[in-house]
Amino acid sequence: MDINNTKLIHNLHTIQHRIHTAALKANRKAEDITLIAVSKFHSANAVQNVMHAGQYVFGENRMQEAMQKFKPLKELHPQLKLHIIGPLQTNKVGDAVSLADSIQTLDRSKLLKALLQACEKQGRNPDLLIQINTGHEPQKAGIPPEEADRFIKECQRCFGAHIKGVMAIPPEHEDPRIHFKLLRSIAEHNGLAEISMGMSHDFEQAIEEGATMIRVGTAIFGARPHTLPA
Ligand SMILES: *Cc1c(COP(=O)(O)O)cnc(C)c1O
Repeated sequence: MDINNTKLIHNLHTIQHRIHTAALKANRKAEDITLIAVSKFHSANAVQNVMHAGQYVFGENRMQEAMQKFKPLKELHPQLKLHIIGPLQTNKVGDAVSLADSIQTLDRSKLLKALLQACEKQGRNPDLLIQINTGHEPQKAGIPPEEADRFIKECQRCFGAHIKGVMAIPPEHEDPRIHFKLLRSIAEHNGLAEISMGMSHDFEQAIEEGATMIRVGTAIFGARPHTLPA
């Protein structure tokens, strides 16, 4: 199911090279762009192979899968960083706060309150990003862009500097640049430094538009199988 190790490392190096090229073109430093390797549906073994090639930042979008895979991995490799990039249910917030270094999908007051409780209880504060539904897609999580400023302020009142930035997933069949520009403007006028945008098919455009974090799955790990790893 996993692609072979040589191919995995080749893919990682290709992505690193493309990040450098895109950064150069945009007059930016490649070091200012964090690559998040999105390992959903791929095995702990594939994660370790990528890690041994020097990639320590990963993203998962289902809490249960993240716990199974990354709890043991993080015990072995404390330098691993995990970003939660999928919709978070309030009943999974305890796990998310205990495991994640960053939660990118804060998008509603109910979740904000649950996170606040869990952080106080555990004495642990992952970085938080606010997800914006830039395309107003009903099936997608995220706060609508016109409510973003108000919600960001509400989050900042609770979490202060732990609110690091914003994240979005543009609609599939639209020019992503419009969405990248909107996300960047929301970050900038709220004084937030981190802008998480860009995936396998559009991360170079995202870098040109100011992404500080890109989330790349398929272009590193290959196509995702349709079932969870055993
Ligand atoms: C799966 C996923 C990605 C990675 O997508 P690819 O197209 O495989 O690079 C990025 N962001 C989120 C939120 C995802 O769920």
